[in-house]
Amino acid sequence: MFSKKSGFVFITALLVAVFFLFNKGGETRKINPPKLDSLHLGEKIICYRPMRHGSPNMSIEKKGEKIIAHNYGHGGSGWTLGPGSANHVINLLLSSEHANDMKKDSPITIIGAGALGLFSGYYLEKMGYTDITIVAEKFESLTSHNAAGLLAPVSMDNDPKMQKIVDQIGIDAYKFYESIAQKKHDDFKEGAVVLPTYFENRADSGLEPYVGVVMKPAKDVVLDFGNGTTRNMVAYDDGIFIDTAKMMVGLSNHLKSKNIKFVQKKITSFDDVEGKFIINCSGLGAGNLNGDTLVVPVQGHLIMLREQVSADLKYMILVYFNEAKTKFGQKVKRSFYIFPKHLPNTGANDIGVIGGTFIEGAHDGTPNEEEFEILVEGAKNFYGVK
Ligand SMILES: Cc1cc2nc3c(=O)[nH]c(=O)nc-3n(C[C@H](O)[C@H](O)[C@H](O)COP(=O)(O)OP(=O)(O)OC[C@H]3O[C@@H](n4cnc5c(N)ncnc54)[C@H](O)[C@@H]3O)c2cc1C
Repeated sequence: MFSKKSGFVFITALLVAVFFLFNKGGETRKINPPKLDSLHLGEKIICYRPMRHGSPNMSIEKKGEKIIAHNYGHGGSGWTLGPGSANHVINLLLSSEHANDMKKDSPITIIGAGALGLFSGYYLEKMGYTDITIVAEKFESLTSHNAAGLLAPVSMDNDPKMQKIVDQIGIDAYKFYESIAQKKHDDFKEGAVVLPTYFENRADSGLEPYVGVVMKPAKDVVLDFGNGTTRNMVAYDDGIFIDTAKMMVGLSNHLKSKNIKFVQKKITSFDDVEGKFIINCSGLGAGNLNGDTLVVPVQGHLIMLREQVSADLKYMILVYFNEAKTKFGQKVKRSFYIFPKHLPNTGANDIGVIGGTFIEGAHDGTPNEEEFEILVEGAKNFYGVK
């Protein structure tokens, strides 16, 4: 039935197919698991992503005499999108008819001193605006300080109509952080690092639109934890870890050096603001300030790691687990992630953060503390450690 030649071709094809079936994971990479016993667990943090149903509000609005550029509601991706989003909204404002009388020395008030507010100040100053004030209710211990630091446009709501813009904003942001990581940025020498980043599949990463533009294709790999546990993952070797603590300090110092004013005050109405032009980066505060009922907090749980081997933590992982209900009946999406975050004023080996939960609508009255224990169990299970 078969000629000798077609038989040979058939057997070769079969062997290739079998090879790929059993080597689905590709290259094997050894990783020493972090130490996850109670002695190596540090500060526990509960914080809230400023999520907006539908999509972040990146728009220009005239309210009475005020021209307001809104930039809030980026959920779990505010750092990922921050620089690109700030630039995008300022450009929207400048190209709108409302900015016809905006001069380089017109007073501009930014509400909010988180990532979005500071990046807005950064780009406005770069564009030559000279009278910028950042007004915020709080400057310390913000969500922007606490954020874990993965560059990936995940855990936010995205109106499909906005997807193209969000992709472009993310790509612009990637370039910004990459230039810091490569020590090529003019203003920031630290605050971002290029690191292999592992997901269970390409779709989970949200990074596929960046591939071929600013990132290389992901590879299939097997992570081998040296204890009999292996995991098939995909690796983006040019992933970016954003050191949010360093970026907050770097941005604040830079803005202060450029004479941008910082004023601590809660704004209860846009009419409270002197001057006509406002950039609204109030995060979760936008719910009340802008009467925006689409804004919701998404609670997250983080645990800082202590006394680790920092050389072992030169990577990031994000995997999704399951959906369940908390004891308060709230829907919780559970995941496990680990990044090499290091808080200022802690020991050199106090490196690493693990997370995380996504609990929409949870608040300080429903802290869901038991999630910390579930998180540690999930992390141990992932690495196959006791
Ligand atoms: C657990 C967790 C993990 C995260 N991990 C990541 C990650 O890995 N990667 C990523 O990209 N993102 C991550 N995020 C999301 C990221 O932290 C946020 O999207 C980002 O910090 C939002 O920045 P922001 O400037 O909009 O808000 P904020 O940092 O909350 O700042 C808001 C500012 O507005 C001020 N303000 C509010 N209302 C008023 C008012 N009425 N008057 C005056 N001032 C006001 C506040 O005082 C504050 O200064 C994470 C978030 C959480 C909670």
